Amino acid sequence: MSKYMSMDTLKFLLNEVHNMEELFEYERFQEFDKEAVDILLDSAKDMADKKFYPFVRDMDEQPAVFKDGRIIAHESLEDMIKGYADLGLIGGVFDFEHGGMQMPGTVLSACNHIFESANNHSLGYMGLTTGSANLIATFANQALKDTYVPKMISGEWTGTMCLTEPQAGSSLSDVVTSATPTDEEGVYEIKGQKIFISGGDHQFTDNIIHLVLARIDGAPAGTKGISLFVVPNNMPQADGSFVDNDVQVAGEFQKLGQKGYATAHMVFGENGGCKGHLVGEANNGLRYMFKMMNEARIEVGITATSIATAAYYASLQYANERPQGRRIESTGKKNSNAEQTLIINHADVRRMLLLQKAVVEASMSIIIESSMQADKHMATAHDPEQSAKHHMLLEFLTPITKTYPSEMGQVSISNGLQILGGYGFCTDFVLQQYYRDIRICSIYEGTTGIQSIDLLGRKVTMKNGKALQLLMAEVQETVQAAMTYDELKPYANKLMDKLGLTQKVLGKLMGFAMEGNYERYLMDATAFMQFASTIVIGWQWLKMAVAAKQALVSGKMTYSEEFYESKVHTMKFYFKYEMPKTTGLAEILMDDEVLTIKEEKQLAF
Ligand SMILES: Cc1cc2nc3c(=O)[nH]c(=O)nc-3n(C[C@H](O)[C@H](O)[C@H](O)COP(=O)(O)OP(=O)(O)OC[C@H]3O[C@@H](n4cnc5c(N)ncnc54)[C@H](O)[C@@H]3O)c2cc1C
Repeated sequence: MSKYMSMDTLKFLLNEVHNMEELFEYERFQEFDKEAVDILLDSAKDMADKKFYPFVRDMDEQPAVFKDGRIIAHESLEDMIKGYADLGLIGGVFDFEHGGMQMPGTVLSACNHIFESANNHSLGYMGLTTGSANLIATFANQALKDTYVPKMISGEWTGTMCLTEPQAGSSLSDVVTSATPTDEEGVYEIKGQKIFISGGDHQFTDNIIHLVLARIDGAPAGTKGISLFVVPNNMPQADGSFVDNDVQVAGEFQKLGQKGYATAHMVFGENGGCKGHLVGEANNGLRYMFKMMNEARIEVGITATSIATAAYYASLQYANERPQGRRIESTGKKNSNAEQTLIINHADVRRMLLLQKAVVEASMSIIIESSMQADKHMATAHDPEQSAKHHMLLEFLTPITKTYPSEMGQVSISNGLQILGGYGFCTDFVLQQYYRDIRICSIYEGTTGIQSIDLLGRKVTMKNGKALQLLMAEVQETVQAAMTYDELKPYANKLMDKLGLTQKVLGKLMGFAMEGNYERYLMDATAFMQFASTIVIGWQWLKMAVAAKQALVSGKMTYSEEFYESKVHTMKFYFKYEMPKTTGLAEILMDDEVLTIKEEKQLAF
C-alpha cells in the first residue's frame, strides 16, 4: 500500500510542537493521556489502511448516483460509517452526559486527518453527523436530545446541515424556507428547498436527520428572523414507530471531485407533510448554526490538508521511482553516457516537493493550533478571562485555518501533478483525482472571498483589535524561543519584520474604515488573507523548527536526526520561497489605485 500520510509528522506536531499533553491537565480532559491517544491514533490508522484507503479511487470512479428518488452511495461507505462509529469518534468530543468521551477536539482533528488522507470522499458523512448531533446536544431540549443524539453518535442515523437555497448561498439572510406553527408546541410545518446538501441521502442508515434553517411565518427579515429545526426523514413516534416525514431528494449534483460524497437537492414538505422541531429559541437559528459552521470550517481545513498530504506522498513516491535525464555536472554540461538519474535529484523537482511539504505540514500545524485553542476555550469555561482569550485566538485563526490549506493545497497538488509530468494528467495516477477533489474546499463552508471579508472585516477589528494583539504576542513568544538558536535567528528576525509590515498595512487600511469607506477597506480582503496567512504559516514553521532544534540540540529525539533536520530545512525553504510574497502583497494592499470597485459608469469587462 502506498504511503498517504505520516504518523511521525502528526505525532511530532501534536506532542513536540504543540505540547498536546498540557490539555490533559484540564479537568475536562482528565480521562486522556498520551498513551491513550497514541493507541487511538494507531487504531485509526489501522482502520484507515483497511477500510478507507482501498476505496478512494473506486469512489471517484463509481460516484454516488440518483436512482428512483434515492441517492445510492458506494457500497464501501457502510463499513466506514460503522468502523468510525465503533471507535467512538462520532460523539467522541461530546460531554459524558451526552454519551461522549470528552475527548479533546485536537485528538479528533488528528484522527480525522488520518481518515481524510486515506479517503476524502467518506468522512464528511460522519463529520456532519458529529456537527448536527452536537447542535442538538448543545441547544435542543431534553426530549430532542434523548431521541436523536444516542442514535446519531452510534452511527445508526446520520446528520446533515441544510443552509443553502438556490437564492441564498453566501448570503443566508435571504433564506426563504418556511416554518408554520402547528397545534403541537415546538413543532412546525416545514416547506422549502435546500441545494448542495452534503450527505443528504444514502442507503445505509434507517434515518437521516437534517438540521434546517427556516423562517417562522411573520419572522423579521434578514438573519435575525432565521430559526433552526430538526427535520428527520422519518419522524419518530411516541410508540416507537416512524412516520414518513415528506423529505424528498430531487437529485444528486454531479461534481468535479469528491464524487463519492453525495450532494443532494432536498425538497421539504412538497406534499404538506414535513414537520420539524424547533431547536432552542425562535429566530436564534443562525447563531446556533454558527457553532457548527465554525467547527466545519476547521474540518474543511483538515479535508484540504489531508488531500494535499496524500498528493504529496503520491508525488514523492513517483519522484523516487522515475528516472529521467541527468544531473547538471559542475562543468555545466550533461554527461549523456551516464545513467539516467531519478527525477528527485533535479533541483526543480526538489523545489516542487519542498513546496508541497511546506504547505501540507504547516497546514496540519495550524489546524492543531486552532483545535488546541478550541479545547482550551472549552476547558477553561470556569475562568472567563482565559476562556475569552482562547476564543478570540480561535475566532481569528478560523478563517485562516479554513482558507490557507484550501487555497495553497491546490497550488501544492498542482506542483505534485507537475512532478508526474504527462502521467500527472492521466487517470492512471491518482494526482489528477486529488487535484479535482480539493477544489471544493475553497468554495463550501464560505468561499475564500467570504472568509477573507470575515478576517479583515470582523476578526481584525473585533474588540478593538484584541485578537490580533493576542496573536502577535503568541508569535513573539515563538520568535523569542527561536532567538536562542543561532541557526534560527535570521528567520526569527524576518518574522518580526513581517509583524511590523502587518501593522503598516493595517494602519493604511484602517484609514478607510475610519472614514466609513468600508467597501474600500474590504476591497482587497482576499489579498489581505494571502498576506496574513503567509505570515501565520511562517510562524507555524518557526514553531516547528524550534521544536526540531530542541530535539537535535538536547539529543532527546523520538525520531531520526534526518527527520528533525528536514523540518528545519523546510522552514528555511518556506522563508526563502514563500515569505517574500508578503512584500508584493503589502504593495498591493497599500496601493492607492482603485480598479475593482463598481463605479456609476460600468467599465466593460
Ligand atoms: C459540493 C458542495 C457541497 C456543499 N455542501 C453543503 C451543505 O452540506 N450544506 C449547505 O447548506 N450548503 C452546502 N454547500 C453550499 C456552499 O456552502 C455554497 O455553494 C457556498 O457557500 C457558496 O454559495 P453559492 O454557491 O450560492 O455562491 P454565491 O454565494 O452565489 O457566490 C458566488 C461568488 O460570489 C462571491 N460573493 C458572494 N457574495 C459576496 C460578497 N458579499 N462579497 C464578495 N464576494 C461575494 C463568492 O465568494 C463567490 O465567488 C455545498 C456546495 C457544494 C458545491
